[in-house]
This record gives sequence, structure tokens and C-alpha cells, in this order.
Amino acid sequence: MIGEIKYPIFREQKQLSCHSLWKPTAEVSIERRREFLQYLDLLFTGDGSGGEKHVVYAQQVHGNKVLTVPSAGLYSDCDGLATGKSHLKLIIRTADCAAVMLFHPGKKLIANLHVGWRGAQQKMIHHGIHLMMQEWRVQPQDLLATVSPFIQSCCYEVGNEFYDYFDHHLLIRRKDKIYFDLQSCIREQLIEAGIHNDRLEISTTCTCCSTLGLPSYRRDKTLNRLINMIEIRGE
Ligand SMILES: [Zn+2]
Repeated sequence: MIGEIKYPIFREQKQLSCHSLWKPTAEVSIERRREFLQYLDLLFTGDGSGGEKHVVYAQQVHGNKVLTVPSAGLYSDCDGLATGKSHLKLIIRTADCAAVMLFHPGKKLIANLHVGWRGAQQKMIHHGIHLMMQEWRVQPQDLLATVSPFIQSCCYEVGNEFYDYFDHHLLIRRKDKIYFDLQSCIREQLIEAGIHNDRLEISTTCTCCSTLGLPSYRRDKTLNRLINMIEIRGE
């Protein structure tokens, strides 16, 4: 069984393909490259018939580096990918972190950004959108944004040190525990970067406690990942 999350904000965008896929039992690391590519093949084509040719993925080191990518492959030392090339499947792997996926309908540009608390702290969203502005003269208000399921404040218990990292309104106290509101943090950063409120959607599904069986590192210490993919279909 393969699970799929679709993104309503992109429903009308015929030139775009964007969804998140996972197989609940998969334990696939990018360290085992061949196996990982076969797994992606299975997710995207259903039969492993060669879809990996167009796969672009990032090493993901919880940093804030975003690269513009011209061709398929693994890009090391980065957490974000952007392109204007058709048929490239930009992939961000997550298990509690968020994938922030951006699309410029007019210019046909896409980006996929890995945002956990470290990415949020290092302003990953700002860096991603800034790169698109520099590279392609994108106006942020023309972008559409969607955010994959991630760990929500119901389950995202954190330590006291988060008061040093984030504005205090993003930290929720329940009994003697502290929970991080990554949902509000991402929303604020997208809006701060210039994206209109009516051009963004953020999943409220919690990877840790939803009944969908989404990969959650916090819950299972798993190697399994939600495969978040965005692609320009092209002509
Ligand atoms: Zn939860």
C-alpha cells in the first residue's frame, strides 16, 4: 500500500505535479542509493520502470542552503532545491519536519524546502524565496505555497532552550511542558517573505499522532520518510 497526500491549492495548476507519498513499512536510507532510487521508482511509477531518471534530491543537513538545480541527482550539503526545468522531480524527505513547496505559475518555477525547527531558526523559507527573486526576478506575491504534514504543536514537545531560539508566542505551555508551534512559525515566515495569505496552505495533519500512519521520527525513530515531490510537467 502506498499513501498519498494531495495539495488542493495546486488543483487548478495543470502544468504542475505535486504530492507526498509513502509506504508505511519502508525503511529506506539515501545512504543506500540504489535501493533508495528503486523505492522512488516504486512510489512514482508503481512498477519501478525508470522514473528515477528525473529525480532530484537533497542531502538535507538541517541547514539553510538552497540550490538551483539543472539536472537530476543527489545534491550534497543543501536543504532546498529550486528549478525552472520541466520534468525534474524535486524531492524533500521528511519524518516530522515540513516540506515547503513553492510554485510560480507565470514563470513556471518551483522550489522544495526542508524546514524543521533548525530550518525555521535559520530562515530557510526566506533563503529559498530570496534565491528565486535573485535568480529569476520572482515577485513573492506571485508565488503559491503549500506545506506538507509535519509534527504539530499537539506533539512537538521541546526543551527550555527553544525560548532562546524563537519568539515566545511560538511556544505553548501545557502543564509543565513546552510545545513548539511550527505551524504558526512557518505561516509567519511565509507571510514575512511576501507570500499572500490566500496563496498559501499549510497542512494541519500531525505526522506524529494522525491516524494516517505517516512516517514520524519522534514516534518511531524510523528511517522511513514522507517523499514530498513537486514537478513542472512541461509541454
Ligand atoms: Zn500530534
